[in-house]
Order: sequence, then structure tokens, then C-alpha cells
Amino acid sequence: MRCTTCRATASVEVRRHHAAFCGPHFLEWFESQVRRAIERERMFTRADRVLVAVSGGKDSLVLWDVLLRFGYQATGLHLNLGIHEYSRESEEKAASFAAVRGAELIVVDIPTEYGVGVEGLAEATGRVSCSACGLSKRYLFNKLALDRGFDVVATAHNLDDEAAVLLGNLISGNVDALVRQSPVLESTHPALVKKVKPLYRIAERETAAYAVLRGIDYILEECPNSVGARSLLLKEALNLLEHQAPGTKQNLYWNFLDRVRPLLRAQREPAEVRSCVHCGQPTTAEVCAFCRMTERAARRMRVRTAAGQDREDAVDVFAVGPARSAAER
Ligand SMILES: [Zn+2]
Ligand SMILES: [Zn+2]
Repeated sequence: MRCTTCRATASVEVRRHHAAFCGPHFLEWFESQVRRAIERERMFTRADRVLVAVSGGKDSLVLWDVLLRFGYQATGLHLNLGIHEYSRESEEKAASFAAVRGAELIVVDIPTEYGVGVEGLAEATGRVSCSACGLSKRYLFNKLALDRGFDVVATAHNLDDEAAVLLGNLISGNVDALVRQSPVLESTHPALVKKVKPLYRIAERETAAYAVLRGIDYILEECPNSVGARSLLLKEALNLLEHQAPGTKQNLYWNFLDRVRPLLRAQREPAEVRSCVHCGQPTTAEVCAFCRMTERAARRMRVRTAAGQDREDAVDVFAVGPARSAAER
């Protein structure tokens, strides 16, 4: 296998582009894909302050690395989710990455701020952990970006993530989510910060290769709560297709963006966005989903202490309706 650019021995194959690259040319190709995403989708410019959501995993550290190399004003935001050893190690990876590069990292500790970690929030409100976690992340990224005057929030969702989410939304017929799915979410409310996904053209194995070639040290473990998650099953299914027919993920996602989504958008009025009466953050309901979740958790913990009852009783007192999807924004 020879490098498409220089004919030297290739180390990374990109089958969907009928290409293979040596180390240096792979890095060049990778960065050109990210640059194209940022420019083609008008994500941000050098004048913008970018808040990068940094988990400590390979995708987010790779994204941060590329943006810093490009000379963007990229500050990291790490949320410590309170998932014990996994969260401790994740924060450590994010902090040492920042220290080596002299980059600014903001850390928010959820157990300190809200009294419980995301698992506690989930347990107290009848949500599954991944749902409480996703909701908390979306809320806190937006709130922090707004409070600290950032122009845009960048997340490290890659092609595999986006294709799996798309497949999941198609299977469950989640039209609202399909209408919203995009590499760029413009601000549609004064309290809603623009969101972008600069890695949407890049496959997961390519961010792994980039991390190895650049010597980026990231947390290898997946979140312990993601074991058996539906998103992993969908990714596996897409990998099977990709293996037999390279380009399947890219075609699925890009054809959706270019051909299907415009038709959906033309048919569907976007839900009206207003301000949460408690916290002022954007929501389509009177009280945002995050406030509802944290209030339920706080109320249940008070009940538990006051009455000295066990957990099941407390759940009965404040029985929670069906967990709302995170479709509040
Ligand atoms: Zn080469
Ligand atoms: Zn709220």
C-alpha cells in the first residue's frame, strides 16, 4: 500500500476516498478535511472565541489540537461528571493536554455544583444515565459559553457519531431531531450559543490514527455507562456495512444533509424557543429540562433525608412521568 500523495509506504488507508497516506500526508489530509468543514459550513473565524467541549477522549483532544494548530482562539471546557475513576482519569488527561500546550482549560465539577453526579441525577429522575449526561452536557456547555462570552461551542462528534445518531433517529422516526441534525446549529435565541461539529467529515478510526501520530495521550476507556448503549450497537451495524461497502457512513450522512433534510425543513416549522422561567436558558417549555431534572433530584434527596425513608418510597412520593427526550432545544 503506497501513499496516494508521495508513493512512500502508506500507514493509514482511507478506503471511502480510495486513498492511503504515509504519516505526514495523513496528518495533512486530516487537517485539510477539518479546515474544509470549518470554512464550507462557516463555523467560525479567527476573530471568534471558541469553547471546545473536551472529555479527555481521543476525539475531543484531537479537535482541540487541530484548532490550536490552526491558530484559533480555542478554550477547553471539561465537565467532571462524577463517574468515579473514569471521571478522575478523564479530567487528568484533559488537564495535562492543556498544560503541555499552555492552553486554557475550564473545569466544571458537577457533583460540587449540583450535589450529585450525572448518575445520581439520572437515578433521581428516572432517566437512563446517558440521557441525564447528554442533557447536562448540552445545558452546561451552552450556559458556560453564554456566561463567559464565547461565540461558538465546538464538539468533537465525528462521522461515525453523526451517522449512528441519524440511523437511530430514522429508526425511531424522531422528525424533530432529524430536522435539527446538522454540523452547524445557528443561534435562534439570544441565550442560545451557536454549536458546530468540525470533525463531521472524519471517521472515528481516523481520529485515533491522528492521535497516535501526534502523540496525544487520551483516556482509552469508554464511559462505563455506555456499555450496551444503543449508540454502540448502531455503530457496529454501520461498521459492518462500511467494511463491505466503503463510503456507506459518509453517503448516509451527507446525502441526508444535502437531499433529505432540506425537504424536512421546508415541511416543519421549528419549535418556538423561549427562556426558562427559572434559569433563563433557552427551552421550548416553560421550565427547561435541566431545571426540571435538578429540581426533581433535589426534592427527592430532601424527602429521603426528612422522612428517613428508603429510596423506593421516595420514588413513589415524587413519581416521575416518562422521561422527556432531550428535545428541549
Ligand atoms: Zn506521503
Ligand atoms: Zn432552566
